[in-house]
Amino acid sequence: MQPQHEFTVELPIGVADDRGQPHKRAAIRKMRGHEESLLYDRTLGPTALASQLIAGTLLRVGEIAEPGPDLVDRMYSADRNFLLLQIRRITLGDRLTAGYLCPACGEDVSVLEDLGAVPVRELDDDEDPESIEVGLEDGYTDREGNVHSTVVLRLPRGDDELFVASMLDHAPMKAADALTVRCIQRFGTLPATELQAYGVAILRDLTLGDRLRIQRALTDEAPGASLRRTLRCGACGSRFERLLDVSDFFLPC
Ligand SMILES: [Zn+2]
Repeated sequence: MQPQHEFTVELPIGVADDRGQPHKRAAIRKMRGHEESLLYDRTLGPTALASQLIAGTLLRVGEIAEPGPDLVDRMYSADRNFLLLQIRRITLGDRLTAGYLCPACGEDVSVLEDLGAVPVRELDDDEDPESIEVGLEDGYTDREGNVHSTVVLRLPRGDDELFVASMLDHAPMKAADALTVRCIQRFGTLPATELQAYGVAILRDLTLGDRLRIQRALTDEAPGASLRRTLRCGACGSRFERLLDVSDFFLPC
């Protein structure tokens, strides 16, 4: 039997070409030694590593041949994570041992994952990745006392992740907020200039519930591979939730 050199997958969102036409069908190949060597490159953070792994193994998207790093950076994070999942599956198989720390007792919790069973949600026909409306319960009250309680978001892309990558380790909340701010298209009736001037400060004024609503719209409720896991600690019985970390997919064994 001939080895299979090319694998076809359907992106959950897809890449728009110059005419705005979305392309979902992508061809990928297995990782080779060149990509493996990237795993040992300590100058690459997780986001830059993901970009290079995808750029090295993505052969085509729709009619776009050899898409290259620029296009990979402009892809939606949901599509990038989906591709990392598929590249891992074709290269190293579906079985992955994921390790977590129990937040209650600090014990190691190890789970054998079947990556072939990870649910993937595709973008619905009536869903626009550039315009996702989120209703807030408490909203944001501006200096004139007006309450703004709807936010329109676009889904995050690779270049958003790269922008906040340097903050991830030492200031994870700042990184998450900076990424969210980049994705806000409109906030109630606030003028764009005002929104820009507020920056991250507007998110800090929101209640925890409203912050969570925005976060969920960008992660759990967004199209793509569902990476959230509910885990149970064998030592103390606590249950907790974690996201399956795509940067663990390729850890050198
Ligand atoms: Zn525990």
